[in-house]
Amino acid sequence: MNNDQTPNVSNFIRNIVKRDIESGKHDKIVTRFPPEPNGHLHIGHAKSICLNFGIAAEFGGATNLRFDDTNPLKESEDFARAIMHDVRWLGFEWNELRHASDYFQQLYEYAVHLISNGKAYVDSQDAEAMRSSRGTLKEAGTNSPFRDRTVEENLDLFERMKNGEFADGKHVLRARIDMASPNMNLRDPAIYRIRKVSHHRTGGQWNIYPMYDWAHGISDAIEGITHSLCTLEFEDHRPLYDWFLENIPAQCHPQQIEFARGNLDFTVMSKRKLRQLVEEEYVNGWDDPRMPTIAGLRRRGYTARSIRTFWKEAGVSKAESIIPMGVLENAIRNDMNENAPRLMAVLDPVKVVLTNYPEGESEILEAASHPQKPEMGSRSVPLGREIWIERGDFMEDPPRKFFRLRPGGEVRLRNAFIIQCNDVIKDSEGKVAEIHCEYDPDSRSGLPGASRKVKGTIHWVSVAHGVRAEIRLYDRLFNTANPLADKQRDYLEFLNPESLKIIMDAVVEPAVNDAQPGEFFQFERVGYFCVDPYSSSSAQPVLNRTVSLRDSWAKLNR
Ligand code: ATP
Ligand code: MG
Repeated sequence: MNNDQTPNVSNFIRNIVKRDIESGKHDKIVTRFPPEPNGHLHIGHAKSICLNFGIAAEFGGATNLRFDDTNPLKESEDFARAIMHDVRWLGFEWNELRHASDYFQQLYEYAVHLISNGKAYVDSQDAEAMRSSRGTLKEAGTNSPFRDRTVEENLDLFERMKNGEFADGKHVLRARIDMASPNMNLRDPAIYRIRKVSHHRTGGQWNIYPMYDWAHGISDAIEGITHSLCTLEFEDHRPLYDWFLENIPAQCHPQQIEFARGNLDFTVMSKRKLRQLVEEEYVNGWDDPRMPTIAGLRRRGYTARSIRTFWKEAGVSKAESIIPMGVLENAIRNDMNENAPRLMAVLDPVKVVLTNYPEGESEILEAASHPQKPEMGSRSVPLGREIWIERGDFMEDPPRKFFRLRPGGEVRLRNAFIIQCNDVIKDSEGKVAEIHCEYDPDSRSGLPGASRKVKGTIHWVSVAHGVRAEIRLYDRLFNTANPLADKQRDYLEFLNPESLKIIMDAVVEPAVNDAQPGEFFQFERVGYFCVDPYSSSSAQPVLNRTVSLRDSWAKLNR
């Protein structure tokens, strides 16, 4: 379990749980995280994970991971495995791994119990008739002509539904509650439907599958869940949740508590849309570093710690809100600023020749891995007569406030010494091909002249020692805060065409070769990067930009 130091912020559910422990209502609390294995987890799910596991851990309770696998058509074991991996990666371990499908038999028996008490009936109206008799928010519904079937007839039909005697859609089992209820969810909701399909865990055993509301609350009760935390759209389902548990011989009655979904701008989070982005290849898979999935964030370089901190600081309430993407980006930026070793990398290299540096020689400089953390040690930075600098750090005819390299001007090379530009060599098209400089040996770090100040410091990489790397510059997936706001337009129109730029010929100092997949760095003056866990090799390192040094979107969107 993690031990993050972030202080607790406003979280009304935590307060409820605390009270329930203090009052002795519960000795031990039990929560659950109940994903449907029909896609990958995203940053919104992480809110629920952090909440459920975090609260249980804090109060000495337990959390189950329960796959809500009642809809066999869309679910798979692959998704289930990916979900388990993501939950563990986020730093949490479940008490028990459960599946709603573990309870199919019990759910069936409870349905028989309802029927036996006259509280459920088999409806044989077609889907259209059922829809139109449901009524509207203003008008009561009307009773099904099948509502008053006898218990015997219902038991018989339900058993035959189970045995596979009827085609899909021929009958449904409905709770017999109140077709005039102002709460639509209580107008005789369906609790079982016929689905003659194979299930990824129970195979061909069942021809009927329970509906979500029926399966969910009962699963909670079977597992002895004390606090069943769900998002606000289930608030109107709570009376049904309670009705079901009051009308079966349930072992306990968990308390359902709703909280506001976690939303972020500049992205989409519904599984249907994420699936579309993957299937129609707008991105390169569920773990594309631009995706808001846990797998995507991980590949982007996000640490589990930064995600936990982000949700802890966001708090938990009933008020819907949309968190700016910049807040999430800040969470990883702060984490990396604190923990990322520094390296130098040049993304758009132009060659500098140090004309007074002896030909054929080189040296090793020791540079701190982190300017504020000596305990992080140092790295060896080789230097020779030729170095790469950023093309943008040199201007032939710069404006007045340009403090980097210019003809005749001086600049300090980070971790090394001061150089002065004496000559510029151009190619046949007039593009700068080589810059000739002299270095000042006395200005080296550690020598008396080291304190000599010049206005600019630039990063660099030795030509003889630098490692060629592929750099993937990731940016936000959408170029507008709410891609779903304009109902007239497809959200795909707002995909950011600049969300990925690939640079093939960047150069990085050789220490990058020691890096493991997933390791991250600050490239000084450039941004935060991680070693891509899949594409990178020592022959051709691939680095993903996790986040820039500063939020470049903030000023654009004010
Ligand atoms: P979809 O409706 O797109 O399939 P879902 O949110 O229903 O997605 P589930 O697998 O059912 O996906 O979600 C598992 C749990 O995660 C549920 O308890 C759900 O309330 C919670 N959850 C999902 N999205 C968010 C979110 N954005 N913020 C907080 N909790 C969320
Ligand atoms: Mg769902």
